[in-house]
Amino acid sequence: MAPTGEHLFDYDLVVLGGGSGGLAAAKEASALGAKVAVLDYVTPTPIGTKWGLGGTCVNVGCIPKKLMHQGALLGESLKDAAAYGWELQPENIKNNWASLRQAVQNHIKSVNWVTRVELRDKKVEYINGLGVFKDSNTIQTVTKQGERTLTAKYILIAVGGRPRYSDIPGAIEYGITSDDIFSLKEEPGKTLVIGAGYIGLECAGFLKGLGFDATVMVRSVVLREFDQQMASIITESMQERGVKFLFKCLPTSVEKLDDGKLLVRWVNHAEEEFYDSYDTVLFAIGRQALTKQLQLENAGVVLKGEGDKIDVVNEQTNVPHIYAVGDVLYKKPELTPVAIHAGKLLARRLFGNSTATMNYDNVATTVFTPLEYGCVGLSEEHAVETYGADEVEVYHAYYKPTEFFVPQRSIAHCYIKVVALREGDQRVLGLHFIGPQAGEVIQGFAAAINCNLTMSILMNTVGIHPTVAEEFTRINITKRSGKDPNPQSCCS
Ligand code: FAD
Ligand code: NAP
Repeated sequence: MAPTGEHLFDYDLVVLGGGSGGLAAAKEASALGAKVAVLDYVTPTPIGTKWGLGGTCVNVGCIPKKLMHQGALLGESLKDAAAYGWELQPENIKNNWASLRQAVQNHIKSVNWVTRVELRDKKVEYINGLGVFKDSNTIQTVTKQGERTLTAKYILIAVGGRPRYSDIPGAIEYGITSDDIFSLKEEPGKTLVIGAGYIGLECAGFLKGLGFDATVMVRSVVLREFDQQMASIITESMQERGVKFLFKCLPTSVEKLDDGKLLVRWVNHAEEEFYDSYDTVLFAIGRQALTKQLQLENAGVVLKGEGDKIDVVNEQTNVPHIYAVGDVLYKKPELTPVAIHAGKLLARRLFGNSTATMNYDNVATTVFTPLEYGCVGLSEEHAVETYGADEVEVYHAYYKPTEFFVPQRSIAHCYIKVVALREGDQRVLGLHFIGPQAGEVIQGFAAAINCNLTMSILMNTVGIHPTVAEEFTRINITKRSGKDPNPQSCCS
């Protein structure tokens, strides 16, 4: 028992949720001498998919997604390889879904195992149970060993979220989500992806790359909240690869046909009705935070408005000793490194005399579509909204990745854009990159933006040749000038 003031609590910190944010906070707190327990529990999906410790990113998010994306990119590379002199018979090359799925799942199992060992080594107690609040210092759970009650000085809510299903008939019965796709036993076949956010585009992108027919149904616009010029270019690059898009459409029902196929009906913006049959229907229409099942009312923690998210100030909820990090937070980026960083900083403030707080601004991100899109900072439209069109200068360029020349890959969508203030030293507000390895390209520039990067610093940075990242150092054409942003030569 850890003596804490007048009270005796079982733990200094109990963490609800063993995902990116919860585990980071738990390990850091324990390293700083706190007595910590983490509860993690996964409710199976409607078709029965479940997984182990580690949360969304490791099991049904970033990791399997990146591996399947890589699998798809390798298919493109195999086609390039012939142009580079490799003697292959591309017509015989095809991906085996079962092998890919098994390889991905094997990796996930190994991460689950390493995570458990790490928690044991770091003296964090792992409890495989769904935690609910009994009161503001007490958590109850049921494990295989029976019921448990845990009291804690501090409680961290890091329960993340799960995919939403549409309320149309047949959605839950016959549809799947990103929670199922990475471990699907049967190959997905002809797939309709409903939703055009990160998840919808990434899933459609890798499915097409692996050889499946893929269609994205878009309710309003593709990648809302992102720079819409970049979103249009990403859409075109996916269309060029054969991904189909149904714009301004909403599904109305999913039915199972006698041959096992799924008949989907939908309407477009003019209320015209359409239908087609698919092997798989994947809902990627956003995620809901898992706060409703926590019995927060017993602790007095309030949710933001009518929603399922928690509004925090420096990760502190309205109940001072109860904190929250990660995807449960209201209006914060739903990204693994954000959850991890916030969790670590919080643990240092609680147990390490630190005062450092999380900065949620200028967080870089990448959409892992076949041609990737990475960005940091403001979109062109957000910059114009914030500063006014006259105060914003937009630099842009199309470019030719050197490695695209030999296989004559399309360069039509390789495009970069820098959004800056127009006056003074032209502070950079946002960087946008479409091309290969976008995440690797944009990461370093995120640090530069956080150090107040200006156009003059960027233009005076000497590039690394021949790379795609160097294109940012060569950029010099403003949209306002009306000059042609197409490349003149590879080394100009
Ligand atoms: P989670 O990682 O979701 O962990 C929460 C855990 O708590 C889960 O295990 C949950 O089952 C458990 N839990 C819930 N309720 C309870 C309870 N009452 N008691 C006990 N346990 C409970 N982010 C990126 O940065 N890059 C990417 O490329 C990327 N790709 C993604 C791809 C997909 C398909 C998805 C779905 C997400 C992706 N993300 C990506 C987002 C990233 O996975 C999340 O932002 C991150 O996992 C959030 O971490 P978290 O700690 O808030 O929650
Ligand atoms: P999202 O980005 O919120 O996108 C949801 C999409 O579904 C939108 O296109 C939305 O259209 C559409 N939609 C919503 N309700 C619908 C309905 N009832 N019928 C039809 N379409 C509907 O959600 P997400 O793609 O599920 O991703 C969730 C979060 O996970 C993201 O915000 C991101 O932070 C994280 N993530 C990150 C990565 C990465 O870092 N690479 C990858 C995947 C996920 P509207 O625009 O019209 O609302």
